[in-house]
Amino acid sequence: MSEVRREGATGTRSRRTSAVSSRIIPTVPVHSIQNSELRRALAERIRYYNELGIYDFYRREGVPEQAETIEPATEISESASVLNPRDEMPAKKAAVASKAKDESIFEVLNPKPEQGVTDPVAALKLIREDLGDCTRCKLHKQGRKQIVFGVGNPRAELMFVGEGPGADEDAQGEPFVGRAGQLLNNMIKAMGIRREDVYIANVVKCRPPGNRTPERDECDTCSPFLMRQIAVIKPKVIVALGAVAAKNLLAINAAMSELRGRFYDFMPFGARSSDPSWQGAKLAVTYHPAFLLRDPRQKGEAWKDLQMVMKYLGLTPPLKQEG
Ligand code: SF4
Repeated sequence: MSEVRREGATGTRSRRTSAVSSRIIPTVPVHSIQNSELRRALAERIRYYNELGIYDFYRREGVPEQAETIEPATEISESASVLNPRDEMPAKKAAVASKAKDESIFEVLNPKPEQGVTDPVAALKLIREDLGDCTRCKLHKQGRKQIVFGVGNPRAELMFVGEGPGADEDAQGEPFVGRAGQLLNNMIKAMGIRREDVYIANVVKCRPPGNRTPERDECDTCSPFLMRQIAVIKPKVIVALGAVAAKNLLAINAAMSELRGRFYDFMPFGARSSDPSWQGAKLAVTYHPAFLLRDPRQKGEAWKDLQMVMKYLGLTPPLKQEG
């Protein structure tokens, strides 16, 4: 079970999500299992899967619980144009510091290749190697030219996450390089920093055909790699660009008007930072640059979101050149 905590003027509200099932399905947290034989058997099973190269395990709740909910998304006239409603989000996505801090035996027995590697450059390289010529979801056979892993400063304090590569990104192997990328560059510059200072990635790393919105199973399959990138980079702030990124990172099904305008405590689920002092990131949501290209009137709103981030990071906009 996971819980999403939200900060803001309206106070704290939470939504509990049920988990998806996958390869190993314990019904209670393993660290709470008192029977030592059972714990040992489960540990051996996890090691067995690790040897097969399987690192991601998801927990399935026995009985769905009712809890406080966030109002369901109504309509989001956002970059994705049409968003798949997500009534239930998998717990592996839930990115909540308070719950994620509960150390799970899975994280202990389920080491990723980069675990313990303190150099973020080397750790990101290991994640990229682990990703390989990925065929884990159907996007690998739907016309992608290449995997778009991510780009930028491996020690960035600020990270931007979009939904997936478009045609330009697919061609160049780098996220946000088309027209939307140019606008993102301008947004970053307006914050008084450079594109090279931040890290940019997407929820899915292969281009969905026709630039369609990535489907839920594709996001679920690919996003653990993003979680691992985040755990390595340890940003202070993550900006989710658009509703698809926000919903996948936060496991919240809500309208942009609900998602924007506040910080969320974010801890990547299923990925552990090598730095125990890193207590997660603040996450803010703003419009996707592609949406801003279609509706420039919303640029002012996006600027408000970025100003909130700038204030938190102590950034000041560059002075305008006279004349
Ligand atoms: S989108 Fe992600 S999971 Fe799917 S094939 Fe590409 S890299 Fe693999």
